[in-house]
Amino acid sequence: MIADDLRFTTTAHPAPVDADERAARLVDPGFGRVFTDHMVTIRYAEGKGWHDAVIGPRGPLTLDPATAVFHYAQEIFEGMKAYRLDDGGIGLFRPEANARRFRQSARRMAMAELPEALFLRSIEELVRIDRDWIPAIDGGALYLRPFMIASEVFLGVKPASEYLYMVIASSVGGYFKGGAPSITIWVSGDYTRAAPGGTGAAKCGGNYASSLIAQAEAIAQGCDQVVFLDAVERRYVEELGGMNLFFVFDDGEIRTPPLGGTILPGITRESILTLAAEEGLRVSEAPYALDDWRADAASGRLRETFACGTAAVVTPVGHVASAEGRFSIGNGGPGAATLRLRERLVAIQRGAAPDPHGWVHRI
Ligand code: PMP
Repeated sequence: MIADDLRFTTTAHPAPVDADERAARLVDPGFGRVFTDHMVTIRYAEGKGWHDAVIGPRGPLTLDPATAVFHYAQEIFEGMKAYRLDDGGIGLFRPEANARRFRQSARRMAMAELPEALFLRSIEELVRIDRDWIPAIDGGALYLRPFMIASEVFLGVKPASEYLYMVIASSVGGYFKGGAPSITIWVSGDYTRAAPGGTGAAKCGGNYASSLIAQAEAIAQGCDQVVFLDAVERRYVEELGGMNLFFVFDDGEIRTPPLGGTILPGITRESILTLAAEEGLRVSEAPYALDDWRADAASGRLRETFACGTAAVVTPVGHVASAEGRFSIGNGGPGAATLRLRERLVAIQRGAAPDPHGWVHRI
């Protein structure tokens, strides 16, 4: 079977959620708790390739306890949003980039690589069938979660010969309720996220499992998110647990840490680099030391810091805390460049501004 020709079978839905129940769930969905009533599954087996593409009712999985993913964590995922566009259509933001990153993550984890065209079709099929689950509220979207697990039943330590790819969808609300609140981030002194040669650039579950203790420490310190330093010198700022970071200076420079295998190549990050250059800012991808961050914030040379990613789009960072103490960025509130870049990005994503780069993928 040629993967690009694989036909999706849509199975009968025994228990769809009725319209009234759905409307009730979409009033204030929050993030990651309200799920649509369908899911996609596609299977892979060595020698057979990709097969059995099904769109069926969302429901529990039954897996043998010796399924490889439970033991050696061969698992990857993606995160992306489908938006209702201003003209009533539905758009995805740069889904081709998610398809590519998913394949790159699979390669790093020695998993079967899902063809990018099949990834895109699986997303489109699910959004089409669950389109009524996009909340009609400010900032509402359908958050799509494609993921893949090693499904071979075998306890030997080796790349699995069978995989299960799935897509589920979750109705989510706007991340910003009433403006753009600044967050306070905690610099982890004890833990790092990714070492050179490790899996930092892959979107694999293990990266998140190992970051949770640091994130919990951030919360315990009264902060919103954790920021990690590089694993070699413990000196340079890398990224947050689930977002990339940008720094805006008084001389028009906007800087983000360089991708070197230890940072997730964010699609929002790449989009911001493009938009910032168009705004006339001097874009650089260069390391930034925590000591310089603190000193530049104190001197006023550093004007703004923001985090970015699919879930929170662009989030201003107001304060930074660590075992050495706290410092603030500017007056602690969102800066002008942060707000301008966020506005431009959101306008493109929602179909409210021209899309010269062809980032919006209509469904
Ligand atoms: N870094 C990490 C560790 C992440 O989990 C994410 C979210 N995928 C990002 C950065 C931002 O990536 P993107 O802009 O593609 O959502």
